[in-house]
Amino acid sequence: MRIHLDRIGDEPFKWQERRQLQPSILERPEVVHLSEIAWQGEIINTGTEHLFQGKLQYEQTLTCQRCLVESPKPVTAEVELLLVSDGEEPTEGELELEAEDLDVHYITDGIVDTDPILLEQLQLNIPMRPLCREACAGLCPQCGVDRNRESCDCEDQRIDPRWSVLRGLREEE
Ligand SMILES: [Zn+2]
Ligand SMILES: [Zn+2]
Repeated sequence: MRIHLDRIGDEPFKWQERRQLQPSILERPEVVHLSEIAWQGEIINTGTEHLFQGKLQYEQTLTCQRCLVESPKPVTAEVELLLVSDGEEPTEGELELEAEDLDVHYITDGIVDTDPILLEQLQLNIPMRPLCREACAGLCPQCGVDRNRESCDCEDQRIDPRWSVLRGLREEE
């Protein structure tokens, strides 16, 4: 949604939208599905600057990087940004808020587009290495069974390479 800041007066401008996005847009193959996203918030005109507050709620299905099982995970996140016009000198109020560690979002022509902000939030909510659960045992690197469901004997059969050389020698005898 594109919102013109000059139309926002003393009352906060509230907006609400529902977005359905293809996971491929995120360029993270671990994300195999995205539910519809409830995305809403408000823009506050303090008189000297504009504050953007948003809240998003959705479900993302991620592939576990250890066992490759896909599992849905609910996400709720909030974002607060200081809107600053691109190419203009920041006002004193903006500089103060920036100093307070408020993240800045640059806008052009006095219009804020909620889509790029949403995309950034979706990216932030993808774990670096998604796991179905912290204790996931993963796949056996040798036979490929899911160690969360089955056990295998590979561990016991693993042979120290030094011994296998000796065994090879013995077999030649
Ligand atoms: Zn897993
Ligand atoms: Zn195995």
